[in-house]
Amino acid sequence: MMKKSIAYAAYESNKPLSPFQLERREVGAKDVQIEILYCGVCHSDIHQARNEWGNSIYPMVPGHEIVGRVTEVGNAVKGFKVGDLAGVGCMVDSCGHCPDCQENLEQFCNTCVFTYNSADKAGKNTYGGYSDSIVVDERFVLHISEKLNLAAVAPLLCAGITTYSPLRHWNIKKGDRVGIVGLGGLGHMGVKLAHAMGAYVVLFTTSPDKAADAKRLGADEVVISKNADEMAGMSGSLDFILNTVAAPHNLDQFMALLKRDGTMCLVGVPDSPHLSPSIANLIFKRRKLAGSLIGGIKETQEMLDFCAEHNITSDIELIPIQKINEAYDRMLKSDVKYRFVIDMNSLRG
Ligand code: NAP
Ligand code: ZN
Repeated sequence: MMKKSIAYAAYESNKPLSPFQLERREVGAKDVQIEILYCGVCHSDIHQARNEWGNSIYPMVPGHEIVGRVTEVGNAVKGFKVGDLAGVGCMVDSCGHCPDCQENLEQFCNTCVFTYNSADKAGKNTYGGYSDSIVVDERFVLHISEKLNLAAVAPLLCAGITTYSPLRHWNIKKGDRVGIVGLGGLGHMGVKLAHAMGAYVVLFTTSPDKAADAKRLGADEVVISKNADEMAGMSGSLDFILNTVAAPHNLDQFMALLKRDGTMCLVGVPDSPHLSPSIANLIFKRRKLAGSLIGGIKETQEMLDFCAEHNITSDIELIPIQKINEAYDRMLKSDVKYRFVIDMNSLRG
């Protein structure tokens, strides 16, 4: 039976989100049905709800930081049973046989189906986590530890994996000097995770009032990126920089802070391009500019297990769904400490 689900949707790029009803597909043999309890609010939700990437499909139900309880499983499901905690991140399907899928990097599969603003294999629009339930193929459902605060786990499904994956890919280890740019949802997870991996963490922020929090979260040093003298003091000193900024900005000021052979990895996806970086900054120290996209399902589970082991969750502001438009406006002013999470009981009324 198709199941009616209540949700909040963006109907147009320039209108506030408002209530919406949709139907989730019947639970198939390999499907898990989840009652959504909490959903994190990612800056990507704003970019897409407002069509800043130019690919939006309306009506759109955003949300890809989903946690909840399993309420039904198909008869071929092996890993989940009714009552289990479960999580869903940015992806809900992929081809399963291309080289990327075979290497557990489903996010790079050419037919990867994203949790919302995407079309599934049957050609139907996908709807995300600002809703009371979801039905997902078991291969894309994550196991969640019972020992952590569930609402604060939700942001790990995107902000957590998007920062964990590049830190692992560039092999960040004890003693490495790592810069994190921007203390928002992704950035604050980057600080916590790099710190837990043993790195010396330098946080770059445009918001001086976040300095004390950054230190509490695990930063060893805080640099106000608008202060040229403070920036110059870091010149040539970092092994790796993870840049989470959601707006176009001058990349050169950060490239210059890398050591020889250092890498800056961009994960922020602004609506318009950064100014092209200077060649001199790259060639004289053989520096690299790179990018990274979320992380595969296997690595997402590894990250969730790492966080359970190290007692890492997100610092959150819990909001009712009725406050979602206000939350978007606050995020755009870099005013969130440090991730909004929707309490989905507010939707059930
Ligand atoms: P967020 O919570 O809004 O954080 C972004 C932070 O960037 C802000 O808190 C602010 O930190 C800094 N910032 C904002 N505007 C700035 C500006 N004009 N100049 C310099 N710094 C600025 O956003 P988020 O949810 O962490 O997402 C960040 C970006 O990553 C978004 O573009 C999102 O779409 C993207 N994303 C990418 C992936 C991926 O797979 N690659 C996954 C998820 C999200 P300070 O106040 O500390 O300066
Ligand atoms: Zn996200």
